[in-house]
Amino acid sequence: MKFPRARILTALTLCSAINACGDATTIDSDRSGDDAGMMAAPLRSETPPNLLVFLIDTQRADYLGAYGHAAPTSPELDSYAQESLVFERAYAPASSTSPSHASLFTSTHPRIHGVWNRVPRGEGEDPIFPALSPKAITLAEVLNEAGYDTAAICDGGNLQENRGFAQGFSVWDSKFSGAENRVDRALRWLDTERDADLPFFLFLHTYQVHTPYLPEEQYVEQFADPNYRGPLREAWQRASSFWASSSGVRGAIRKIQGDFYKPALPAEGEAPNAEDLAFLKALYQAEIKQMDTAFGRLVDELAARGITPDNTLILITSDHGEEFWEHGQYGHHQIYDTTAHIPFIVRGPGTLSGVRRSDPVDLLDVMPTLLYWAGIEVDYLPPSMLGRVLDFGSKDAPGNYTVVGESNWPEHQWSWRVGDRKAMLFPGSGRATEVYDFAQDPGEQDDLAARQASWVESVQPDLQAWAEHAVQWQSDHQLAPGVRDWNKLTQAERDALIGMGYVDPEEIDGN
Ligand SMILES: [Zn+2]
Repeated sequence: MKFPRARILTALTLCSAINACGDATTIDSDRSGDDAGMMAAPLRSETPPNLLVFLIDTQRADYLGAYGHAAPTSPELDSYAQESLVFERAYAPASSTSPSHASLFTSTHPRIHGVWNRVPRGEGEDPIFPALSPKAITLAEVLNEAGYDTAAICDGGNLQENRGFAQGFSVWDSKFSGAENRVDRALRWLDTERDADLPFFLFLHTYQVHTPYLPEEQYVEQFADPNYRGPLREAWQRASSFWASSSGVRGAIRKIQGDFYKPALPAEGEAPNAEDLAFLKALYQAEIKQMDTAFGRLVDELAARGITPDNTLILITSDHGEEFWEHGQYGHHQIYDTTAHIPFIVRGPGTLSGVRRSDPVDLLDVMPTLLYWAGIEVDYLPPSMLGRVLDFGSKDAPGNYTVVGESNWPEHQWSWRVGDRKAMLFPGSGRATEVYDFAQDPGEQDDLAARQASWVESVQPDLQAWAEHAVQWQSDHQLAPGVRDWNKLTQAERDALIGMGYVDPEEIDGN
């Protein structure tokens, strides 16, 4: 496929087939047409800005100060957010890495692109590991064709070239190595590898706050009870000293998870005691602080290179959060807001500063929005996208937007969020539908399903239409995923998936 180089957009209408067209962003004028009564196009620079997405894997929004967290996990990010446009209601379309990233890169839902972390098969059969269709049109591909230099600096794990994620990136570098290392790698690309005559798109991803937790002691001290002597302190200490001597050694992450953390965590279906839970949360917060320090350094280093909000649009976001038994589980396999609610902070030329917006957005909005801000003309925007262009120059929220979330393993969960209400459905398991109202109950503790049965009934036709539309959209845009068997993964890839808790070695034949 070929796209022309960036041009100034003159007209744009993007309309998700799931949401009513009247609610979608509709732009009907060029920048000279600021006539009263005519919806003005979002104001953007005529020089395509650099684009940088800083994606903090597993970062739940409410553990950042910018989203109300009390403990000082994120001073650098918080102060950055104060000068930025903050979206308070941003959501991940899935609760795990691969589907959320594929949605960000293609602006389609996981059910359409099919790139789940893993797809279980029948009893006794190994799961499969889907790859993004090579026919998918990705954010990086369009930017690359539009004259951007593109690089992805990622932190290993599920973000692998052979899962289809490298499409459109001139440089793809993915290795489990932490935020500091990834920031250094990104700076090296900026300094010595990119084409300085072109605007750049840098996708910078870190697993710093993902399990297995390996924060440095100086950060743990800031959040942990110094008197805690339980099994998780020992697990963290043993894991850290092992990692210090074996970083980069094949199987090290798997060993850390299996030999140190797993024996210290409660068995499945059980919850930890208060002291263990507090220390586990302290480790997560320490990881956030360590990531935050790296982020602060990144911003300083960018400024030293003349890469500033005047010429570069930075989006800080995540692919999903983390739950700590608020709903019976640890990790990120469910789609309660502990995992669905993510940060979404933007700053760049033309964006508002010091403004918070409460209209809902999701990761599907990233691709059309960044393409728009890159100046790509509507005729050349991929028709496969389902997200919207967000106007970063406006305080006004557009109309309602239905946000859909999904998880496929170990239980199929499906969420449907309209306004303050969210229905959670569990197709296949027989578990009853749940309903939550965020205006009253942001922690999703009071299930309203019995009291709001008529609302659940009223959205059934929408759910049905959405599911049918997803099947058609996948077919129309050739988005059916490729398939990779466990046996075709390298040993290093298997170790990484097991080490990060995505695969239980006992369920894999011959492992
Ligand atoms: Zn992730």
